[in-house]
Amino acid sequence: MDSIVDKAALGLLSDQTSDIKGAMEVLDNLWLAPKTKRDFVRFARVIQELAGYEQGRVMKKLMSNWLSRYDDSCEFGLQQEFLCGLTSTVLPKLTTSKVAAQVCLTGEGTVENLVFEFARKFTRILYDQATPLEASLTFQAFSNFSQASKLFRKSMQALGLNPLPPIHKVLAGEYLKQASEIDIFALRESLARMIEALSLSGDSRLWLIDAGYIYIIAELYRTRMQGDRFDVLSRCNIALLRLISSEDSLERLRQSGFLSTLEPLSTVLKEGIRGTDFWELVKGKLTNSKDGQKFRDFTLPVTHPAWKNFKRSVFSTPVVCSWKECEAMEYTESMLEHLEHASALSRCGRCGVARYCSQKHQKLHWPSHKRHCVSKGEKPLVPISLAE
Ligand SMILES: [Zn+2]
Ligand SMILES: [Zn+2]
Repeated sequence: MDSIVDKAALGLLSDQTSDIKGAMEVLDNLWLAPKTKRDFVRFARVIQELAGYEQGRVMKKLMSNWLSRYDDSCEFGLQQEFLCGLTSTVLPKLTTSKVAAQVCLTGEGTVENLVFEFARKFTRILYDQATPLEASLTFQAFSNFSQASKLFRKSMQALGLNPLPPIHKVLAGEYLKQASEIDIFALRESLARMIEALSLSGDSRLWLIDAGYIYIIAELYRTRMQGDRFDVLSRCNIALLRLISSEDSLERLRQSGFLSTLEPLSTVLKEGIRGTDFWELVKGKLTNSKDGQKFRDFTLPVTHPAWKNFKRSVFSTPVVCSWKECEAMEYTESMLEHLEHASALSRCGRCGVARYCSQKHQKLHWPSHKRHCVSKGEKPLVPISLAE
């Protein structure tokens, strides 16, 4: 395991094309590998180790490649363009790990430059300059950062980043005709993840409605596809459920007239959540009519730990104990159980990246971790302010 991490890290830290491609091959093999729970845990562990590698150097290097056009001190030439391109295929996968995404954002000005970069990419999509693959990778990365970081969410709101026009564009039939099936599914999946994450974050819920993002939910319902993983619709359902269960967002939804957008989609919503008439519930909450009376007092137990788990589950790469031989996560039966285990892991007090199920495993990990961990008294890689 250690040698895989070293090999990937050294490749990603290099400026030589062949080294970087070598690293990408190592990572590709890992991404394709998960078949058993054990593979999956191992995969998650490698990403987590890469996130904290040499005090976060790998992530910082990737970000500096990606954002080099905003760096006045470096000339943005062909070589940079090339590194930028390579990075944009690696980063969306690595940042499915929350901690990896958070390490990416440390560093002065990084978040702002990242928002600028997304604005540039959205423009490219809008003006047909981006391939469907590029569009899909862009939205995957965008969703990952929206989920991982409050700072990112705040900055995109403050800087007025508006992904709606490019989203409308990519969900339109014409555009999808030229995309491969894999790109389309990845794209839909990442949009659904983004909506879910924003609806579950108190800092973004009203903005989600005001900025018109809720129409993406309707769009995903409307264009639901045969091969959609169950995920896409259920993420939309969770988002909608969350929005109708707080008073302030419910009121805003009523004012926005969202009900009339959803009405033609009632059959999709009827299939919504097993054991409930989801459409009746949504309609009842969104109207103040007598019909809705029986749902009036329906509120979700949003303080329930299950909501917190939903929030974590939006990440496809879960946190795991950093000790390479830890098997604790491999024997969890269900996803929920897995999440409970994951939330019980403690963080390395210095770097904030490594996680442990026990002190014993922390001790076992230390001889290899100490080279990567930050020194005592230094700033952690993931400051508490970025952690949510
Ligand atoms: Zn462990
Ligand atoms: Zn550490």
